[in-house]
Amino acid sequence: AKAMPGSGFRFFDAALAADVQARSAIENDLARAIRAEEFFLEYQPIVGVESRTVRAFEALLRWRHPEKGRIMPDVFIPAAEKTGLILPLGNWVVREACREAAAWPAPAGVAINVVGDQFKDRAFVGYVKQCLMETGLAPGRLTIEVTESVFSVDETVIRESLSELRSHGVRVALDDFGIGFSSINNLRAFPIDQLKIDRSFAQAMMESKRDADLVDIILKLGRTFQVTTTVEGIESEGQLDFIRQRGASEAQGYLISGPVAASDVMRFLSQSDDRLSA
Ligand code: C2E
Ligand code: CA
Ligand code: CA
Ligand code: CA
Repeated sequence: AKAMPGSGFRFFDAALAADVQARSAIENDLARAIRAEEFFLEYQPIVGVESRTVRAFEALLRWRHPEKGRIMPDVFIPAAEKTGLILPLGNWVVREACREAAAWPAPAGVAINVVGDQFKDRAFVGYVKQCLMETGLAPGRLTIEVTESVFSVDETVIRESLSELRSHGVRVALDDFGIGFSSINNLRAFPIDQLKIDRSFAQAMMESKRDADLVDIILKLGRTFQVTTTVEGIESEGQLDFIRQRGASEAQGYLISGPVAASDVMRFLSQSDDRLSA
C-alpha cells in the first residue's frame, strides 16, 4: 500500500482517542459503580508490638465489578482522584468504616485512607464529625491516614482540617513515611498522632545496615515527637523481633494477618483474645 502522508499523525490521534476512550470508560464505570454500591471494605489488623493484641483495623477499599471481578484500589483510586469521584467514594468509605467499626468492641479502632482532594472539599471535616455522631463511634477510635502528598494541597487548609479533626478527638496518621517527600518539617508543622513507616523498610531493614539505621532514626523521631510508630509490611517473626528491639509501638502485615472481610473482624478479635489468655 502507498504510504499516506500524515498517517503517523492519524495513528497517533487514534491511539490517543483510544486512550481517552479507555479512561472515560473507567470513569463512567466508576460513577455507575458508586451508584450501584459495588464497593466494600476489607480490614487489616494493626497490633501492639509487645502485646500482639489488635489496636485497630485499617479499612482497605475493594471494587466488586460485575464483569471484571475484584479490582484493587491501586487500579481505581488514581482514576477516582483524576475525575473527582474520590469525593463521593471517599465519603462512602468514611461512613461505611464508622458504621462497621461502631459494632466492634471498644477500644478497637478503625483507620481510613484520605487523599488531599478530600480536604479541599471544605465540608469534609464536618462530614466526618457527622458520621461519628450518627454511627455513635467514639472519635478516639477513628484514625485518618494521610500521606505526605496531602501537604502539596494548600498548607493552611490541611493544617486547619487536621487540627479540627484532632481537637474533635480523631487521630491523624502520616502514612507511607520514609519514602517520597519525607520531611522532619512535616512532623514539626502538622499535628499528627502516628507515623506509619512504609512497608518497603520492613524488607530493606533486614538486608542493609543503612536501612536498619534509617528505621532506627525514624523510630527515634517518633519517640521525640511522642507519636505512635507503626511499621507496615511485617511478614516474618524476624522482622517483628527487629522492630520490637528497636522500640516500635505497632506492627501491621501479613505475619499478623492480611486484610479480612468485615464479617471476619469479630472472629479475629475473639481469636486474638484467646491467644492473649492462652
Ligand atoms: P496503604 O495505605 O499503604 O495500605 C496498605 C497496603 O499494603 C494494602 O494494599 C495492604 O493489603 C498491603 N499490605 C498489608 N500488609 C502487607 C504485607 O505484609 N506485605 C505486603 N507486600 N503488602 C501488605 P491494598 O489494599 O492493595 O491498598 C493499596 C493502597 O490503596 C493503600 O496503600 C492505599 O494507599 C490505597 N487505598 C486503599 N483503600 C483506600 C481508600 O479507601 N481510600 C484511599 N484514598 N486510598 C485507599
Ligand atoms: Ca494506609
Ligand atoms: Ca501505608
Ligand atoms: Ca501505600
